[in-house]
Amino acid sequence: SDQKFAAKTIIITGAGGNFGRAGCIHFAKLGARIAAMDNNDSALLETLREVNAAVDGEAPVIQTYICDVTDPKSVQETVEKISNDFGEINMLWNNAGYQGQIKPTLEYDPVDFARVMNINVTGMFIVLQSVAKEMASQKKADGDTTVSHPFSIVNTASVAALRGTPAMVAYSSSKAAILAMTVSSAKDLAPHGIRVNSISPALIGPGFMWTRQNELHAASGSPYFSSDPEQVAQAKVGGVPMKRLGSIDEVIKSVAYLLSDDSSYTTGTNLVVDGG
Ligand code: NAD
Repeated sequence: SDQKFAAKTIIITGAGGNFGRAGCIHFAKLGARIAAMDNNDSALLETLREVNAAVDGEAPVIQTYICDVTDPKSVQETVEKISNDFGEINMLWNNAGYQGQIKPTLEYDPVDFARVMNINVTGMFIVLQSVAKEMASQKKADGDTTVSHPFSIVNTASVAALRGTPAMVAYSSSKAAILAMTVSSAKDLAPHGIRVNSISPALIGPGFMWTRQNELHAASGSPYFSSDPEQVAQAKVGGVPMKRLGSIDEVIKSVAYLLSDDSSYTTGTNLVVDGG
């Protein structure tokens, strides 16, 4: 069986959401120990319930931490608590995010723009820095290991960073910042035994998020989208060379590749998961 994640401690932020919850279940099933972080306590509780149901009969492998990624003090305390609870931290999926308003640039609320940047960029940095500090101090304590860079961080970006999705100027800007944060921090953290990469998913579905997104794009008043959500969906899929949506499972497998030693010589890169 797949031993890459057995007994590894993985911190997952946005663990109450779509991707984060699926990741918690996937890695828990592979024997990882999950530190699930989110600021939405009821969503986090549902993740806890689903993980425990998925690994039914096994020892509990998940702990939940209610934490707002934009609060440096709270993140610092949470990471220290995780380190105490689990003894070590091996991997981080830095995944919490907020998409903001769906509005063309001329109508976009600057207050919401700042909020998107604060959660997606500053929040992602705060978590990355806190966890990397912990990893770097572990590396010192551990001394030589068989793997040159035993720690791995994956940041969730988006193809919006590369394409500039209309009516999502704040989100696109924030995700582009994450690509640069990934490259720059990868250089700073390589001497500390830490790899940093990002993933950029595109159209993922079906499900509530996909349907809701098309409704919001249809209602945005942007000339790039039909006012009919069905037609928005068709046009989007029609533009994908593989002519289909990606699944959450396909996102998680890409994250798994970057988190594990399978990608041991890869750092500072962005893996696009978009069907072409
Ligand atoms: P989601 O909304 O289901 O999950 C996001 C989670 O982040 C939520 O549980 C939310 O409570 C949490 N969160 C938000 N602000 C927070 C804060 N300040 N502190 C702590 N937690 C906070 O979204 P998702 O689809 O699971 O997306 C996860 C990531 O993937 C996001 O970064 C998103 O931008 C990105 N992404 C998603 C898609 C997609 O198709 N769903 C595509 C590309 C990129």
